[in-house]
Amino acid sequence: MSQIKVAESAGFCFGVKRAIEMAYDAIGKESPLYSYGQLIHNKTVTDDLASKGVQIVDSLEGLTEGTLIIRSHGVGKALYDQATEKGLKILDGTCPFVKKIHNIVHEQKEMGRGIIIVGDGSHPEVQGINGWCENSAAILESPEAAQTAQIPPMERYAVVVQTTFRQSKYDQILDILKERGISMEVFQTICSATEKRQNETVELSQSVDKMIVIGGRNSSNTQKLVEICAKNCRNTVHIETICDLVLNNFKKDDKIGITAGASTPPAIIKEVVVTMSEALENAVQNLGGSEEATFEQLLEQSLVTLHTGDVVKGTVIQ
Ligand code: SF4
Repeated sequence: MSQIKVAESAGFCFGVKRAIEMAYDAIGKESPLYSYGQLIHNKTVTDDLASKGVQIVDSLEGLTEGTLIIRSHGVGKALYDQATEKGLKILDGTCPFVKKIHNIVHEQKEMGRGIIIVGDGSHPEVQGINGWCENSAAILESPEAAQTAQIPPMERYAVVVQTTFRQSKYDQILDILKERGISMEVFQTICSATEKRQNETVELSQSVDKMIVIGGRNSSNTQKLVEICAKNCRNTVHIETICDLVLNNFKKDDKIGITAGASTPPAIIKEVVVTMSEALENAVQNLGGSEEATFEQLLEQSLVTLHTGDVVKGTVIQ
């Protein structure tokens, strides 16, 4: 009998949920309504918001009025200043955990300390954090970079880390900085939601035959989940929506684990879970006495037929 296990922490985290609710709340009340960059890395949600009038902008050029929603990743100080100068209203969806890093970096810079950000320099969250210390931070995204990066001599550094970074990699980088003799105060800014999701993903991916990770291809936290799963489970697939799921890669006795990135809406997770449950349940029921029939054969015989948009009832989740 097949089993589908869904990670408890799959899907929207607190920060993303908060920003999305802020945006949906503003629809109809604020106009024109802009979001600075994609509000979340999920096309289904951003398309829906766009259809309801939320326009995505990547610069404030040409905007003279309206309301600007800042996404959970946050932005640098200059953008707040620019928006205020232009008279735009700001709806600040910056996740409070990210805001905390902005405040640390800003205060530490004011105290005359150098700033080191551990994280992916091309990620908007890291760019936003850097924008709170006049873009002066040394950004280290790997132990290799920590070994080789030019870090100007300063009396003391403040070190912060991108919220979605792996703790073990952060520890490695901190060890290297210590070995290099860098005087530093270390701030623990990895988000507990991310850590919890990643730990749960390690456990789940070690206990199943196949893992499905649902989330945007450009979502860094989803990519990390895929990496973790692939290490522990050879049969890991990354899908954005149910449309990407190749059902005949699954067999009737498979133990299947499902997790999802922080930008994956509950409706998409549910669609995958329900579809899988129904498909596998039908496969088992339709097997009858025939031990020979495989799930693939059932698919071929159209005993299991699935199309995106089908209304599927009855979920068996264990
Ligand atoms: Fe906030 Fe954590 Fe979600 Fe990032 S992952 S938005 S820091 S709750």
